[in-house]
Amino acid sequence: MASLNDIRRTYLDYFGRNGHEVVDSSPLVPRNDPTLMFTNAGMVQFKNVFTGLEHRDYSRAVTSQKCVRAGGKHNDLDNVGYTARHHTFFEMLGNFSFGDYFKEEAIPFAWNLLTKDFGIDASRLLVTVYHTDDDAAEIWKKVAGLPDERIIRIPTDDNFWSMGATGPCGPCTEIFYDHGDHIWGGPPGSPDEDGDRFIEIWNLVFMQFEDFADGRRENLPNPSIDTGMGLERVGALLQGKHDNYDTDLFRALIEASAHATSADPDGPGKVHHRVIADHLRSTSFLIADGVMPSNEGRGYVLRRIMRRAMRHAHQLGAQDPLMHRLVPALVAKMGGAYPELGRAQAMIQETLLLEETRFRQTLERGLRLLEDEVATLADGSDLPGAAAFKLYDTYGFPLDLTQDALREIGRGVDQAGFDAAMAEQKAQARAAWSGSGETADAAIWFDLAEEHGATEFLGYDTETAEGQI
Ligand code: ATP
Ligand code: MG
Ligand code: MG
Ligand code: MG
Repeated sequence: MASLNDIRRTYLDYFGRNGHEVVDSSPLVPRNDPTLMFTNAGMVQFKNVFTGLEHRDYSRAVTSQKCVRAGGKHNDLDNVGYTARHHTFFEMLGNFSFGDYFKEEAIPFAWNLLTKDFGIDASRLLVTVYHTDDDAAEIWKKVAGLPDERIIRIPTDDNFWSMGATGPCGPCTEIFYDHGDHIWGGPPGSPDEDGDRFIEIWNLVFMQFEDFADGRRENLPNPSIDTGMGLERVGALLQGKHDNYDTDLFRALIEASAHATSADPDGPGKVHHRVIADHLRSTSFLIADGVMPSNEGRGYVLRRIMRRAMRHAHQLGAQDPLMHRLVPALVAKMGGAYPELGRAQAMIQETLLLEETRFRQTLERGLRLLEDEVATLADGSDLPGAAAFKLYDTYGFPLDLTQDALREIGRGVDQAGFDAAMAEQKAQARAAWSGSGETADAAIWFDLAEEHGATEFLGYDTETAEGQI
């Protein structure tokens, strides 16, 4: 059975053989791009090459890119543990053409890799195209011999990519794998498309236009290609699995978690193990790329993911800090492809241990408060915003952690009430400050501003020009 490490290698070699420069993954913190929280697609490191601002001495590239989607516009945090296909950290395999080849070559490159080199059963594959993209539909028909009903025309933005309000844009085609009718879900474009029967594995973007500020859309003189395929998703199907969390890599992490907690990997704590395995990857890779837990910006996203994982560890009955003990299993699996992980191992472990030791001091009390509050609630009603705010303010529970805990019992949080409590505390802090003029109060205000500003930051859509493929 090919491991995820083998599959990554096969991908890089295939495109390498076909004239692509094999380029390293860029860091998770995008260089010189404050608009983007984390690298969330393979094209991010090539943005300026696509727009022509920057030139490289190659016109074809292939990468396996570290990606995090846990904040901003692409936030898959709440899907983790519940869908078969989402992670906060994942690897995006991508081949790129900078004004070199276009659709006529990109489609056969993809089809041949999937059906020949990977040996995927072609009758399980179907594709989407943008509804007006007749060229792509024709090429699919010719190259893959797909019947019309397996070339689905989609009129929405799901199949039209743009870099931002202006700049390169174009239609895309997505390749889906049908895992079979024993799994719930409908084909793309159908009402049940969010199910996990038809899983999107690969997205091919055809950058063929440029949008201008005055509303003009013109053809690019040299159209480009940007693709992205989830390694974990293609890995699952190549390993005969439906679920990403059943791949060799995730099984190793889940078993490490099961071993350390003595909790059955496939028992009632299954979701906890899955979330822990996922969050172990995102937190470790973020720390390796220089992000440290803090109360603002990227560091706060990291802290939120860590704390979330720690609650799941607690739910499994872990009596002591858990996360740091799982790092060796991750390094064993991924340290070969990403040497920065091994180099940062000691720091990752120390950071996780310190955070978990601290957070455990309030975690248990917060969870008890949450339980007491829930016990007083009427059937089906949400947790009052004031209670969620107290958990946030006094016990260090990020709102999403509380929501995650409540989701397990089919409840939510009164978000408006939470926002109101937050606003009220801010107003009080401001009043205290303007009333006294004392520096001590001013210092408190700035602390609060930092903390609350951080929470708001997460709610903003700061990603104006991101690599959404
Ligand atoms: P989905 O619709 O399943 O959420 P997407 O359309 O958001 O996927 P793209 O932005 O097109 O995904 O990213 C390219 C590829 O990266 C996808 O086809 C998929 O294989 C993979 N991918 C995207 N998001 C994730 C994720 N959160 N975890 C794992 N793989 C992902
Ligand atoms: Mg998505
Ligand atoms: Mg999609
Ligand atoms: Mg997509």
